[in-house]
Amino acid sequence: MNIPVYLDNQATTRVDGRVIEAMIPLMDEVYGNASSTQHEFGWRAEAAVAQARRRVAGLIGALPEEIVFTGGATESVNIALKGVARGHRAGGRRIITAGTEHHAVLDTCRRLEREGFEVIRVPVDRYGMVDPEDVRRAMTPGTILVSIMAANNEIGTLAPVEALGALCREHGVLFHTDATQAAGKVPIDMHAMHIDLLSFSAHKMYGPKGVGALAIRGGPPAIRVIPLFDGGGHERGIRSGTLNVPGIAGFGVAAEIAADVMSEESSRLSGLRDRLVEGVSEALEGVRVNGHPTLRLPHNANLLFPGANADAVMMAMKDIALSAGSACSSASPEPSHVLRAIGLTREETLCSLRFGLGRFTTEEEIAYTIGRVNETVRTIASKTGTKSGPKSGPNAEMSRTNAQSVH
Ligand SMILES: *Cc1c(COP(=O)(O)O)cnc(C)c1O
Repeated sequence: MNIPVYLDNQATTRVDGRVIEAMIPLMDEVYGNASSTQHEFGWRAEAAVAQARRRVAGLIGALPEEIVFTGGATESVNIALKGVARGHRAGGRRIITAGTEHHAVLDTCRRLEREGFEVIRVPVDRYGMVDPEDVRRAMTPGTILVSIMAANNEIGTLAPVEALGALCREHGVLFHTDATQAAGKVPIDMHAMHIDLLSFSAHKMYGPKGVGALAIRGGPPAIRVIPLFDGGGHERGIRSGTLNVPGIAGFGVAAEIAADVMSEESSRLSGLRDRLVEGVSEALEGVRVNGHPTLRLPHNANLLFPGANADAVMMAMKDIALSAGSACSSASPEPSHVLRAIGLTREETLCSLRFGLGRFTTEEEIAYTIGRVNETVRTIASKTGTKSGPKSGPNAEMSRTNAQSVH
């Protein structure tokens, strides 16, 4: 067993050995520029990119020519939202999203508000689920884009993507989904689900960091996306810049493996995840699963341990790599916007931990984790003297004060 045990697979994943194998020659002897059409070096690099494009497209039911390779999901989301908004300004100013999105979407939408777009954030229920009816009600003739994530990175809740896609299609509104956590983990068929634009990233599915894709549905009618940067016109002019050939090839292999093992891996990991949840729920009082009980990622469990501060638990348990909320915002003292949006008090958000299992998680590691969590949480919760949930008592004041800053 490897110590520390890695249970932070929603932040990033270990690169699969088969991916590394495939990448090495593309940094070594096959080092050509994929745009060099005059010689063997370029042809071989281009062939590697073309193969990866087919594999990445295959994972999400897209056509190879619908894939734009990017530097990761943050970049894909920025191109999708800003590119569509700026390209469709004449059709209206309204964008619909949800408050539980990743910062890549939230902060891009905020930027677009400063440019004069109107962003509507639909609510989610206590499981983090968006109701398509709320999206329908928010639609106006001036609505140009809906962006709802396929799977939440903190609580794992899966969105009703197909229903949202059908609704958007019916109203002639473009539909983007941030599928960074869903791709390679749950089946996605971009066309069957009426998804117009889809963002995802290699490093969340056992591929390398710094490479991602934006799938843009082909026409007719073609979707107008204004590029973020200008240059050599790579990727159909949507993402100029010399292609990251090794990264893209690695992404391709990661996508192919994910498609192959998805159903087997998801049943293995959901089994381990359930064992973890049972193991801690049986031993500790008041443990709650944050997120949807069934419509959820197979390998994620976001758990609330009443009275046990998550930072204190993680500090006392350095042999297990976990996260409270998302990696991207954990540097800031703000409690998770996702957990606040599903109705947790500030105190409850601070007592919630995310367990992200992955391809390399073993039974032994889960058994070890159950034991360590049980002893650590018990010790910390007994010091705080709270066992049945911190909704009342000394923490109530804190929750009330901070409720004002909720958005
Ligand atoms: C990780 C993540 C991103 C950002 O992806 P990068 O490739 O790291 O830029 C965006 N959205 C979600 C849901 C994520 O989990």
